[in-house]
Amino acid sequence: MEEAAHYGDQLSTVDSKGKRKWIYALQPKGKLYKYRSLLSLVYLLAFFGLPFVRIKGVPLFLFNFPQATFIFFGKVFLPQDFILLGIGMLAVLLFIIVFTFVYGRVFCGWACPQTIFMEMVFRRIEYWIEGPAQKQRANDHKEWTTELYVRKGIKHMVFFLLSFLIANTFLAYIIGTEALYHIMTDPVSEHIGGFLAILGFTIAFYVVYAFVRELVCTVVCPYGRLQSVLLDKNSLVVAYDYIRGEPRGKRKKTEANAPAGDCIDCNMCVQVCPTGIDIRNGLQLECTNCTACIDACNMMMEKVHKPLNLIRIASEAAIAENRKPRINYRTKGYAAVLIALLIVLSSLIITRAKFDATVLRVPGQVLQENPDGTVSNLYRIKIVSKSMRPESYRLALDSKDARIEYVGKHLDSLYTGKSAEETFFIKVDTGKVMRRKEQYTLRILSGDELIQTKEVTFIGTY
Ligand code: SF4
Ligand code: SF4
Repeated sequence: MEEAAHYGDQLSTVDSKGKRKWIYALQPKGKLYKYRSLLSLVYLLAFFGLPFVRIKGVPLFLFNFPQATFIFFGKVFLPQDFILLGIGMLAVLLFIIVFTFVYGRVFCGWACPQTIFMEMVFRRIEYWIEGPAQKQRANDHKEWTTELYVRKGIKHMVFFLLSFLIANTFLAYIIGTEALYHIMTDPVSEHIGGFLAILGFTIAFYVVYAFVRELVCTVVCPYGRLQSVLLDKNSLVVAYDYIRGEPRGKRKKTEANAPAGDCIDCNMCVQVCPTGIDIRNGLQLECTNCTACIDACNMMMEKVHKPLNLIRIASEAAIAENRKPRINYRTKGYAAVLIALLIVLSSLIITRAKFDATVLRVPGQVLQENPDGTVSNLYRIKIVSKSMRPESYRLALDSKDARIEYVGKHLDSLYTGKSAEETFFIKVDTGKVMRRKEQYTLRILSGDELIQTKEVTFIGTY
């Protein structure tokens, strides 16, 4: 109980002298750890494989911040799509809020790349090279042998190589695999920026996974800090059933002498915890909901023939009232808003045109009377393509009485993200202009495919 007395006064990763306490987390065993391992495998395959997936030559995902070009599921988004971006960000924010209200921090323990790489990749490599957590702790606290130096050296080399691989994949999401291939195969002098980016990311990942580790979740990550405002007593979290578990105590030889609570104070839940906390002290910001303590405690419950799930996914209210978790009205309200936003976002994405065009009458230009018996207005079109391929482009009018005449060189194709513009007259036979203002429909086509229509105003003779 001494630890409980200090609960809230000290960090699990800092000792009484203010020094970092290294966490030697035992490898969990159990059903949930198996599920996490499977999920991580799928996740890792997706992470390393997705940059290579292309649909008709277009990457499935690309987040090219330097060129402000983003591709989601093969669809290109440019700075012109700021409305979509705004709604998308709002939807993501709401999703995070709703998800956290209901499921607490389960994303951190099960789907966050930091946790997956740390717990399922780097820590496992550490177990393979340096042995289980108890052995690592014992070795680190005695004089290092040559064997230990060699093992540590190999571990750090593997960590660095793996960080290099992650850095390259990470960069492939930003600049694409083709650009990455050029950085890797061309002389370094031709891609100094790219080379420095790879080196920088590699060092950053290596430092995070070799040294910073759980501090990313407990100190650095802003999402972790948000928990204190997002969670309420109905949120699902990894929770210790103190009503069933207390008073805790070691099992005596005879059941008669045993403490009344089911917790046998074996400390296994603390030993497997990658952030070094004791979940029996209640909900803590350091808990990433990785569920390792559930597996550890269930293993102990099986051994002492007690019902499982003394630690389980439950809400604080459900534990206190000994009932099943419930979803409250606030969460339902946020979920309804989120669904509405997702519907708006999906319909905007589905109906989004391949070209984005703005057509304006050239300012200062009035009606022009021509020697060929026509009158004309001058227009300028600014157009940008959101397709990943060069696209053919042309304009047409929806009227037999009017025709287009280009000024200067006429555009016939558009390239992704490159804004193009051209100037043209709309010419109409004088006798056909019946009103002061006529409306014509300008058709923007790619080949025979109609991409967009724009209404343009034609100033007539009277
Ligand atoms: S308390 Fe349990 S769920 Fe939370 S981080 Fe520690 S082991 Fe994971
Ligand atoms: S693992 Fe379970 S039984 Fe052991 S100390 Fe933790 S809560 Fe108690």
